[in-house]
Amino acid sequence: MALQILELLKMLPRTNCGDCGYLTCMAFATHVLREGVAPAVCPHFDSPKLARVEAILKEQEEGGVTAFPEHFVSAKKHVISKIQEYDLKELAPFLGADVVQQQDRDALVIPLLGRRYAVSKDEVTALDGGEHDVWEHVLLYNYIAQACREPLAGKWVAMGELPGALAKKKAFEEGCEDVIAGAFAGRVEDLHEVLLKLGASSPPMDTNAEFHAVFHPLPRIPFLLYFWDEDRDDGFPAKVKILFDATVLCYLDIESLVFLGEKTAQRLLALKGK
Ligand code: SF4
Repeated sequence: MALQILELLKMLPRTNCGDCGYLTCMAFATHVLREGVAPAVCPHFDSPKLARVEAILKEQEEGGVTAFPEHFVSAKKHVISKIQEYDLKELAPFLGADVVQQQDRDALVIPLLGRRYAVSKDEVTALDGGEHDVWEHVLLYNYIAQACREPLAGKWVAMGELPGALAKKKAFEEGCEDVIAGAFAGRVEDLHEVLLKLGASSPPMDTNAEFHAVFHPLPRIPFLLYFWDEDRDDGFPAKVKILFDATVLCYLDIESLVFLGEKTAQRLLALKGK
């Protein structure tokens, strides 16, 4: 029988420290088993236990039981099939990517949340040698598959203003904005510090937010993040709002954009622990 979430949870330190980018060990365990996140992403995993879990997952995969649902695997296969006819070299400048040769094939080097990946037509390599999962692959391939050539509009829009995105607004708030707000409540300096690690800048803007920053989770997808800190006396929780360039749906479909938001929140939390 496949490894269960509670079994994996028992092997984790269960401190809910958030250093893996997830708020709790339970959330991390769920993402390992449901989305194929690598167990080694938890930096506090006891080595012998980690080796045991990795061996179990490898054995399951070889036996046809993937660590993530089959539809994730098919999503990757589907999007890879879409880019087979693309000329990656021609597309690179439009995606803000570099081109390298990998085993005589072109690969695009794309920074995603501060990490660089080489993406060829059949595989993804993290250039820092770190862990990465199938959903990051799907995200990078979707970004390429959109093959958007539009220059950025320079106009910021909220998710609710994007065509057809209203239904996803809540998912984006819960998976991204609320997670960041909760993790950095009362810690605006920490948020500033982790965003600097992602190359963020704070251009002058007319806003009543306590802090704002522009950063690029993907090269042609800037996020404008506003942060209002909690007010304990008045009982207001911290709040985060993220705006996008008006071209964003040319560069990424809405599902992937919501997922990019989740990954962004996880990355900020993971960087906070470093
Ligand atoms: S890094 Fe994540 S999984 Fe590891 S102990 Fe901390 S919260 Fe739990």
